[in-house]
Amino acid sequence: MANRFFLYKFQAGMQVKLKKAHPCGGKIWDIVSVGADIRLRCQTCGHYLLMPRRKFELAVTDILSVPGEPVSPQAEENR
Ligand SMILES: [Zn+2]
Repeated sequence: MANRFFLYKFQAGMQVKLKKAHPCGGKIWDIVSVGADIRLRCQTCGHYLLMPRRKFELAVTDILSVPGEPVSPQAEENR
């Protein structure tokens, strides 16, 4: 099954929402760095997480903000 974020050009500074919540309850993550693995920081508790890129692509459900672009009003409401 093709994923809509397959090979998406993720970049550091993006804010994304993942399918599965972190144990702290947070679902919103900041992308800290991008490579073969994606380094993420939980916005709720501040924990860092390293995830293989492929696994990350499958886990992302939404991109909430992109660096340099204002956050859309809809994304603000979903927090
Ligand atoms: Zn967390």
